[in-house]
Amino acid sequence: MEQCIFCQIVEGKIPSKKVYEDEHVLAFHDISPVAPTHVLVIPKRHIASLMEIAPEDHVLLGKIFSAIQTVSRELGLAEKGFRVVNNIGEDGGQTVHHIHFHVIGGRTLTWPPG
Ligand code: C5P
Repeated sequence: MEQCIFCQIVEGKIPSKKVYEDEHVLAFHDISPVAPTHVLVIPKRHIASLMEIAPEDHVLLGKIFSAIQTVSRELGLAEKGFRVVNNIGEDGGQTVHHIHFHVIGGRTLTWPPG
């Protein structure tokens, strides 16, 4: 079976530009940035999407959002603002089926998204 690309990044089998790492969470620069700063924050454990989050994962979700705060401050996004995006499923535009939160900033973002 083909292995999840983000699990391979967690395992170091595929290189990534890491910006944050702890026991449960990893953040790295997106390979195809849509803004001056575009980081992906993921749990190290494979969870396919937000729809697979279970009640026992709620602490993990909190750690992910803590990491988002840390990353946004360290990358200088916190003062002017930024966006956190989680795509879910086909219509949501999810292409990698390992839950990830896009942290996007460094320019003025428009709304609504496409
Ligand atoms: O939300 P979605 O699933 O579309 O986002 C996947 C993201 O993963 C894309 O922004 C893509 O550029 C990124 N990616 C990456 N490194 C890879 C494969 C995909 O940063 N090796």
